[in-house]
Amino acid sequence: MERLGSKDEVRQAVGEARREGKRVALVPTMGALHDGHLSLVEAARERSDLVVISVFVNPTQFGPGEDFEAYPRDLQRDMDLLYAEGVDIVFTPTPEVMYAPDAQVTVDPGLLGSVLEGASRPKHFAGVCTVVAKLFSIVGPDLAFFGEKDFQQLGIVKRMVLDLDLPVKVVGCPTVRECDGLAMSSRNAYLSGDEREAATVLYRALCRAEKLALGREGDARVLQEAMREVIDAESLAEVDYAIVADETTLQPLERLGAGRARALVAVRIGSTRLIDNLALEVV
Ligand code: AMP
Repeated sequence: MERLGSKDEVRQAVGEARREGKRVALVPTMGALHDGHLSLVEAARERSDLVVISVFVNPTQFGPGEDFEAYPRDLQRDMDLLYAEGVDIVFTPTPEVMYAPDAQVTVDPGLLGSVLEGASRPKHFAGVCTVVAKLFSIVGPDLAFFGEKDFQQLGIVKRMVLDLDLPVKVVGCPTVRECDGLAMSSRNAYLSGDEREAATVLYRALCRAEKLALGREGDARVLQEAMREVIDAESLAEVDYAIVADETTLQPLERLGAGRARALVAVRIGSTRLIDNLALEVV
């Protein structure tokens, strides 16, 4: 496994692999790795010959007052985990390597970037799209792996690839959860003991919506109110949104049935903001 810090080194190493006819996969991350990230690495390894993982806490996707400084960083532990997973290249640029001091051009995520997470975090998806487009340009992967945990991000990246004709296939991977249902996230490390228990409320709310949908409740508002009720019952939790949306447009649905539906929640547990989502099967 190689750790590379510059764009040129990555371009050169991937270029050599390409000339040998290797299929290249990219897994973008912000580090503080957990089993969710490692599931992406495993999926990437199964479908490619060279796995590149980027570990970069991207400053441009954090808003003022968000947790950029406090975001957990433990590169040595990440490297050990990635070595055990058989990763080929770990790209660890600094912000100075990634961004020119006078950088101006960014990728506009469009309407998809303005709802849900985008409504609470206005420049977040422009930051995500820009860094992902840059990583695609630097690495030039055949395949790129993203988690359904960040469902809106996955949808926006797929849309960006389509709209900008980027020559990469985006692969979505299922959310990896703790035993009690909490979606794995680097931000779970912020939670105190009580908060960690309260944090199961996201999955409990989503499961409530899923159960109603399976019981043929078709009114999306009923599902949304049920999710809010579950979250409101948890004293340490404060709901940001609890929505049933069309899986592709992410616009709120009135009724289930037309197109595939997704329940999505964002909840504050103390000062930690967590998100999660679940597909709603209509039988
Ligand atoms: P992050 O380091 O949080 O930016 O995440 C890097 C990638 O890992 C993104 O594509 C995430 O969607 C994905 N990811 C994060 N948590 C999970 C999880 N619990 N299960 C599956 N994928 C995840």
